[in-house]
Amino acid sequence: MRIATITNWAYGATVCLTIAAGVTMVMASNADRVEREAVRQRDLFDQLAFEIEADEAQLTDQARLAAVTGDPSHEIAYNRTLAAIGPIEQRVAKLKDNGAKEEELRSLEEGLRWAATLQDEQKAAIAAIKAGDEITAHKIVFGAEYERELERAHFLLGRFRYMLDNRSDRAIEEASRASQRLRTVSEVMVAITAVLFLFVLGFVLKRRILKPVVKLSDVVNRLADQDYAVEPPQLSQIDEIGDMAHAIRVFRENGIERQRLERERDADWHVRDLLSRMTQRLQGCESVADLFEVVRLFAPRIAPELAGRLYTLDTRLGMMACASEWLSPHGSDAAFTPDDCWALRRGQSHMPGGDLVDVPCKHVPPETAEATVCVPLTAQGETIGLLVLENMVGRNTADRRGPNGNTQVYIELMSETVGLALANLKLRDALHEKALFDALTGLRNRHELADTLRRNVAQADASKTPLSCLMVDIDHFKQLNDRHGHDAGDMTIRSVAGALDNTVREDGIAFRYGGEEFLLLLPTCDSERALDRARLIQDRILAMTLVHDGLPLGPISVSIGVATYPDHGPAHTLIATADAALLRAKDEGRNRIVLAGENKETAASAATG
Ligand code: GH3
Ligand code: MG
Ligand code: MG
Repeated sequence: MRIATITNWAYGATVCLTIAAGVTMVMASNADRVEREAVRQRDLFDQLAFEIEADEAQLTDQARLAAVTGDPSHEIAYNRTLAAIGPIEQRVAKLKDNGAKEEELRSLEEGLRWAATLQDEQKAAIAAIKAGDEITAHKIVFGAEYERELERAHFLLGRFRYMLDNRSDRAIEEASRASQRLRTVSEVMVAITAVLFLFVLGFVLKRRILKPVVKLSDVVNRLADQDYAVEPPQLSQIDEIGDMAHAIRVFRENGIERQRLERERDADWHVRDLLSRMTQRLQGCESVADLFEVVRLFAPRIAPELAGRLYTLDTRLGMMACASEWLSPHGSDAAFTPDDCWALRRGQSHMPGGDLVDVPCKHVPPETAEATVCVPLTAQGETIGLLVLENMVGRNTADRRGPNGNTQVYIELMSETVGLALANLKLRDALHEKALFDALTGLRNRHELADTLRRNVAQADASKTPLSCLMVDIDHFKQLNDRHGHDAGDMTIRSVAGALDNTVREDGIAFRYGGEEFLLLLPTCDSERALDRARLIQDRILAMTLVHDGLPLGPISVSIGVATYPDHGPAHTLIATADAALLRAKDEGRNRIVLAGENKETAASAATG
């Protein structure tokens, strides 16, 4: 039951009890008054009855005195008393007026009639004495008959008095009992009212003031300790405590909101810190492989609810190839054509699972299309990669959606950073390639040679193995150029370079040393094996059938000079020694192989023509 109902009931009961107690007290007071009236009436009746009896006794005494003494003064006194008494009706009326009952009055009247009879006899006795008949007078007032009548009158008046007393006593007793009863009831009611009042007061104080205040104080203390899990009491009472509870609730809600905002801000700072660290790491990447690793590491921390893949454009195949993957996204990581992705087609993020209906990408499995967002990686307006991110929240449920607003911002920032870093690395790789590799043949150029030679010599020294160097020069290339044109010359250079690269790819390195001149380094190869390799090269090139613009270019021959470190001198003269051997091969008629340190006669070359 609600406190308000309880207090209302208690208040009503208190009011009713108070009124009832008041009424009872008034009734008790009335009973008192009735009692007092009964007492007064009894006193009055006692007095009147006593007066009647006293009058009758006085009349008898005076009549007897007159009869005994014959003194006329007694007769005078007798007559005066008789006159003062008055007639019976007057005396009865006096008692009737004061509330005597009919029965009592009948008894009185009977007594008075006997008294009147006695008066007649008294008068007769007085008349007899006056007539000198003393004996008769004596006989009348002292005779047995007179005594009987006197007794009779006394008895009747006594009965009247008894009846009056009896009734008055009963009335007094009843009035007294009623007064006592009502007073007791009134006192009990007052006591109940007081107890009820105290109970309600205590109850209200405890339930409506003490308990809420204690609870609110506890809540305030916990809120002061920033413990917003505490639940303020729901007080519906409209008073200061209710206002206080409401204020505390508002304070708590504000605190919770502030905490939520702080958490959001902290989370945002954390993510932005991660983004900034990722940007720094990306700037420090030496290769795209490093970049893929950085993305694989940071992406799941920046957006923990998103599984994803990073695709890059394989320009050779014209396909998007998966380079990195995190948190096990759905679907396969197979390559796909850029046309299968709406983000790549439109050049902007594509999220078919948002509030707006959109077309899902073909490269995404249909069951996860609604939870997926594709973000193109662009740099200088060129698309170079793609982030495919799948929201794992609600995975395996019907309600799947793309990333929320905040995460989308982080994804955009991440994609910008990754796109830029990827573009920079690709540009750097391209420049690097340009600097180190020959554009026409794809072989390493002379700039790379010095470093590579140094490394290989160090390796040879460390492993005490030989290192052979082959200088290869196309014979009479100028003539071919002149005869078939520069393009045919380029094609020939490319073909020879390809043959050289194929021959040494497994265990050596090929360089384009100059125009139509190549250098091969063969680690761990001694002179014998180097000569064998030179012969193989010579044969393969001779076996090539080159056609340009439909015209055969004829057989191509090369001259090769071979030198081996450390057999043919110190490392820094290795190239020069091989070059000298090549010159000798040219001098000796071309299309031949010369090992450094050999003379004309012992040349290991074999002329073809
Ligand atoms: P030899 O047998 O003595 O080596 O005679 P050669 O004609 O091959 O040698 P030479 O040094 O006289 O001529 C080399 C020619 O190669 C000169 C140059 O025009 C030509 N050449 C150099 N680089 C290229 C190139 O990249 N493409 C084309 N098509 N020709 C080139
Ligand atoms: Mg040449
Ligand atoms: Mg040359």
